[in-house]
Amino acid sequence: MSQTNKGSLIVLSGFSGAGKGTIVKSLLEKYPNYILSISCTTRKPREGEVDGREYFFITEEAFTEKIEKDELLEHARYVDCSYGTPRDFVEKMRNAGRDVILEIEAQGAAIIRMKCPDAILVFIMTPSAQELEKRLTERGTDSPEKIAKRLRRAEEEIKCIPDYDAVIVNDDLDRAVEDVHQAIRVLGWRPCSRQELIRSFAEGLSGINGKRA
Ligand code: 5GP
Repeated sequence: MSQTNKGSLIVLSGFSGAGKGTIVKSLLEKYPNYILSISCTTRKPREGEVDGREYFFITEEAFTEKIEKDELLEHARYVDCSYGTPRDFVEKMRNAGRDVILEIEAQGAAIIRMKCPDAILVFIMTPSAQELEKRLTERGTDSPEKIAKRLRRAEEEIKCIPDYDAVIVNDDLDRAVEDVHQAIRVLGWRPCSRQELIRSFAEGLSGINGKRA
C-alpha cells in the first residue's frame, strides 16, 4: 500500500496460460492487504469454476445493462466473450485502504491506465512462446480452436507490453510472486502514486510559511 490512506489499483495482465491466476492466488495468500476484484463475464463456467468466486457469470443482456448503467470500470471482448470490472467494489476497497488487483487483459488495462493514471500495470510472461503453447495445451481446459485463438491473441497483446510498468517472467512460481510483489511496492513510490501525500505536505508547508510570514 502507498503511504496514503487509499489502496493501490494493480492491473495484472499476461498471456492466457502464463500463470497469472496462480500468481494472484499466491499473492493473496501471502499478503493480506491485496484483494482480488471478481469480474463479470459472459463466458460459460469451466469445470470447477463457481459463480461469484472465479467470475460473476452473466448473460450478454445483463452485461449490456451493466455497461448502460455505468457499473463497469472497464470492459473488453476477449475470444468471443465479454469481460468487465465492477466499479463499486474497486472503489469501496481502495477507499478502505486495500490494494485491489484486477486480473484483466490488455484492452482493459489501457482503459484503466487512462481512467486511473496512478494504477500499477504489471505484465506476466512465460520464458518463451514455446513454453506458452505447452502450458496452454497441458492445461487441458480449452479446445484446440480456443488454444489457437488465445495464441493469436497473444500476438496482439505483445504489442501492448510497452504500455505496462513492469514485465515479470513466470519461470519459477515463487520467484515470480516475489518479483510481482516487489515491483508493486517500488511502483507505489512513483510521484503519481503519492499525490495525496505530496498534496498534504504542500498544504502543511504553506500553513507553516503563512504563520512564519
Ligand atoms: P479466461 O476466459 O481465461 O478466464 O480470461 C480470458 C482473459 O480475460 C484473461 O486474459 C483475463 O485476464 C481477462 N479478463 C478477466 N476478467 C476481465 C475483466 O474484467 N476485464 C478485462 N478487460 N479482461 C478480463
